[in-house]
Amino acid sequence: MAKIAMKTPLVEMDGDEMTRVIWQIIKDELIHPFIELKSEYYDLGLKYRNETDDKVTAESAKATLKYGVAVKCATITPNAARVKEYNLKEMWKSPNGTIRAMLDGTVFRTPILVKGIEPYVRTWKSPITIARHAYGDVYKNAEIKVNCPGKAELVFTAEDGSVTKELIHEFKSPGVIQGMHNLNSSIESFARACFEYALELKVDLWFSTKDTISKKYDHTFKDIFAEIYEKDYKVKFKNKGITYFYTLIDDAVARVIRSDGGFLWACKNYDGDVMSDMLATAFGSLSMMTSVLVSPKGVWEYEAAHGTVQRHYYKYLEGEPTSTNSIATIFAWSGALRKRGELDGLSDLAAFAGKLEKAVIDTVESGIMTKDLTEITTLKEVKTAGTEDFIKAVRERLEKSL
Ligand code: NAP
Ligand code: MG
Repeated sequence: MAKIAMKTPLVEMDGDEMTRVIWQIIKDELIHPFIELKSEYYDLGLKYRNETDDKVTAESAKATLKYGVAVKCATITPNAARVKEYNLKEMWKSPNGTIRAMLDGTVFRTPILVKGIEPYVRTWKSPITIARHAYGDVYKNAEIKVNCPGKAELVFTAEDGSVTKELIHEFKSPGVIQGMHNLNSSIESFARACFEYALELKVDLWFSTKDTISKKYDHTFKDIFAEIYEKDYKVKFKNKGITYFYTLIDDAVARVIRSDGGFLWACKNYDGDVMSDMLATAFGSLSMMTSVLVSPKGVWEYEAAHGTVQRHYYKYLEGEPTSTNSIATIFAWSGALRKRGELDGLSDLAAFAGKLEKAVIDTVESGIMTKDLTEITTLKEVKTAGTEDFIKAVRERLEKSL
């Protein structure tokens, strides 16, 4: 069978640890045999990020802006332990944070639903897509450790020299201070991305902040969403039969648990970070959550929602067998290939993505799955597959379907 051709390169961002191992197996077993892969490769593994003073991360984001579609492997965000482990020159920033800031996009996460992996929340019948604002707040903060008594103030100096001050706290004893910001333009594009994506999915949009406590910061988010909705989306939503619903974050959390799913939940950066992990786990498994960064600049970056699965990687290094779930990483590839196919008018490439996803779901539903899923499945006859065996089982099904 002839391999499927590509036109525009895909930006490929390699990563770390167990997901880096999986990345290579996916390419060898599920991509190269079927596709004449055109990709521009960037190694975002921590070792190479350190060698390049993290310049490679910014370069990969620039390439994404140029070509439009990227697929990213999970990467280590260094902490003190990693600085030691990898002998780092610096505690480099989160690559995802750097990329998101450059693309100014919105991250949408949707669980992959499979028969036999039932949500922990009995009422959930349809996926809940969560949208995470991907700019600012605590991810672009400034922090100070206070070690002696003193006065902390929030100071804004305008270009004309005028100064606005707000007392934060009079410190009598040690403590901590944090400064954060956001931009109306970023909140606006977040709002538009969410309204547009809700229309595309034809589902209700929920948005939640803590505007009762944060009367200026969070309230700005609420106001911007409301203005854009009134002006540009009220009629479109009515025509599609969907609704926009604003509520406090704590009320939203309670309602989400009681709901039957099937809506898009827009969250601020930190809420989205935390709530997407909660939703992923509650839908069955963190390893079954897909993630796509949609930028108003018209670019898409696909990845798995989980991390580099460090614990499994250390077992792998010891030569022990592993059973790491590759599904979300495979779906990152299929998502990126489908989008590339759509943008380039390559219907066979887009169709391949669908067949790859079906092969994955059929494999799990036939009872072949990794350990994280055998532990929670309701299927009776199951076989626990190793990391590589699972991908090979998917390949067998994929070959039959082509
Ligand atoms: P993690 O890699 O997501 O793994 C946490 C635990 O969840 C694993 O130990 C494993 O549980 C389970 N798990 C996650 N993905 C799995 C999969 N595909 N198959 C099977 N089990 C899976 O989170 P972490 O251990 O907190 O973080 C490890 C590294 O990843 C950190 O350096 C962090 O910075 C990075 N990270 C990167 C991203 C990203 O690039 N998008 C996101 C999050 C974290 P068991 O051990 O119980 O089997
Ligand atoms: Mg998280």
